[in-house]
Amino acid sequence: MGGTFDPIHYGHLVAAEMARTEFLLEKVIFIPTGTPPHKDRIVTSASLRYEMVKRSITDNPFFDISDYEITKEGPSYTVETLRYLRKEYSNHELYFITGTDALKEILFWREAEEILTLTQFIGASRPGFDASDFLNTIQQNHPEIRGKIHGFEVPALAISSTDIRQRIENGQSVRYLLPEPVRLFIEELKLYHERS
Ligand code: NAP
Repeated sequence: MGGTFDPIHYGHLVAAEMARTEFLLEKVIFIPTGTPPHKDRIVTSASLRYEMVKRSITDNPFFDISDYEITKEGPSYTVETLRYLRKEYSNHELYFITGTDALKEILFWREAEEILTLTQFIGASRPGFDASDFLNTIQQNHPEIRGKIHGFEVPALAISSTDIRQRIENGQSVRYLLPEPVRLFIEELKLYHERS
């Protein structure tokens, strides 16, 4: 499961658990992005985002975390992560889970053609976001990936990282939107209290 996770919240965790059970996955590996090449805002340091994900997943034996993207040099390109995972899990089928909003841009990702041969995709949508148009169009235009991109709606994704950052900046409560250890970590380090 790839994402910036700035910060991780219950929407991400519910999406991961739903994907695991619906697609019969052996485990879900969270891979926080290192330096995202596509962001126009300042992103919290990779090591802090990694730490927040780590603190969120301790109670689920099917969840794991990888520091692959945060320890490698240079920008995070998904194609490189997938090449690495393909080698590491050579006897396994891979599914790359992320937000459908992010997947909509997939054809513009670096080495998109290769990416589409390395894994299947699971796009998690927010409630009210109709992913069927995107899924139909991409599969019509790229018959080679037909059946390799799956979508599912996650009601808990009404929670968003953007909203959480905004709430913290405005001094509003974020209790119950993310795991308590993450909320306390954010409080302790005063993350998101001031964005400039
Ligand atoms: P983003 O643009 O920050 O997020 C787009 C939307 O997807 C947001 O609504 C976001 O909600 C949601 N989202 C992101 N990750 C999610 C997840 N794991 N589960 C459910 N919803 C999720 O996307 P991003 O986080 O930067 O990128 C997502 C993944 O795509 C990462 O692994 C990234 O490396 C990859 N990617 C690769 C390339 C490339 O290789 N060129 C380019 C773009 C993205 P929240 O804000 O609430 O998370």
